Amino acid sequence: MANLADENKFFADVCKNFDSAAQFTNHPEGLLNQIKTCNSVYRFQFPIRRGNGFEVIDAWRVEHSHHMSPTKGGIRYSEMVNEDEVMALAALMTYKCAIVNVPFGGAKGGIKINTKQYSVAELETITRRYTTELIKKNFIGPGIDVPAPDYGSGEREMSWIADTYMTMNPGQLDALGCVTGKPIALHGIRGRKEATGRGVAYAVRECVEVAEDMAKLGFKAGLGDKRVIVQGLGNVGYHSAKFLSEFGATIVGLCEFEGAIYNPDGLNVDEVFAHRKNTGSILDFPGATSFKNSMEGLEQDCDIIVPAALENQFTELNIRNIKAKIIAEGANGPTTPEAEAIFTEMGGIIIPDMYCNAGGVTVSYFEWLKNLSHVAFGRMENRYAANSNANLINTLENLTGKTILPEHRLMIVKGASEMELVNSGLEDTMIHSYHEIRETLMTKPGTKTLRTAAFVNSIDKIAVSYMNLGVWP
Ligand code: GLU
Repeated sequence: MANLADENKFFADVCKNFDSAAQFTNHPEGLLNQIKTCNSVYRFQFPIRRGNGFEVIDAWRVEHSHHMSPTKGGIRYSEMVNEDEVMALAALMTYKCAIVNVPFGGAKGGIKINTKQYSVAELETITRRYTTELIKKNFIGPGIDVPAPDYGSGEREMSWIADTYMTMNPGQLDALGCVTGKPIALHGIRGRKEATGRGVAYAVRECVEVAEDMAKLGFKAGLGDKRVIVQGLGNVGYHSAKFLSEFGATIVGLCEFEGAIYNPDGLNVDEVFAHRKNTGSILDFPGATSFKNSMEGLEQDCDIIVPAALENQFTELNIRNIKAKIIAEGANGPTTPEAEAIFTEMGGIIIPDMYCNAGGVTVSYFEWLKNLSHVAFGRMENRYAANSNANLINTLENLTGKTILPEHRLMIVKGASEMELVNSGLEDTMIHSYHEIRETLMTKPGTKTLRTAAFVNSIDKIAVSYMNLGVWP
């Protein structure tokens, strides 16, 4: 977790990664600086009524890059939020969107509060006032800047934002596209909640499928024999663990604030989740070894580690203790550049945040499209596809005189639901982008890591957008 000494390091770290990659591109320095810089940093403070008095809340919205509109990125609710962090996260959003070909610039918001210390009514007041401040300065709108959930926020906060925006913009046809990650009842999209974790699982699966790369780590290809430790049982961590185990991996360790648990024979993620809910702690899960020090949990034997909590988890001080050979960054910025250099030297692979956790924004893009088109995916064609598939099967049965098994008929005939379309769009995006990044790593000598290769791809794509905008000759 970022501490005061690191307060101004995160954005610098993102820029450091950018600079390492920029040398493998051919763009003029001025253009590179334009891509790197944060276009707009809006810092504001507003009062809320608390008890018998008032409290002043610190908040930010940073739009990192306007090379595409709208800008996009979550709002973090945390007492650790600071301007440097929001700038860094906004920048990562720009590179992330470019990597997965989501046509947005990057943005991020921050509200400096410990959500546990506020009532639901106070959180609603804060969220609605935050939204109003954004509206006042033209920092929100379906074609301007579209927030989403991040650490400490979820569907509930997004519906308050949508409602506030719609109230202040009556009659605006596309108003619901002003925020994503909304509940389904408020025109959210199926699959958004689990999208980041599902995307992490696709990213890891894709990485371990490449036999040539796995052989260098002394691994066989595939998830079947992989032991995974996940840090964080929040939305991203929980879903990453759940889908990785569904795809065949064994979850051997889970880490949270209060400590960590480890069982080499595997942990049932849902049972651990229920245990934490019932007892208030991950510790003492039956059959597992408990560690009061969460960091100790990360240092246990495994093949893959998924940091899915906050930034700066792996530094030059602890990276050598990590047994995993693959780090899959579910969180944003969990590995410092210094730690990455050491880990790479040790022969490890890092699946970088800007690609690995891009599933969330990818499905946010689908939600935004749904809101702008005012129709759920699959609604127009679902029944049509089912009928024409049935006609095809009936014709084949008549021609061949054979009858297909009812369960096979059911599988073939049905049209795609919104959830199936979203998941298939997400899966395709994660597979395609992984190979795009890997291709750069293989073909551009000097790009030693997937992160550098991902940055090269991002920078190239953003540079093309600036040139198309006519900003650059
Ligand atoms: N907060 C998420 C992220 O860091 C999602 C952003 C979005 O959906 O716009 O990627």
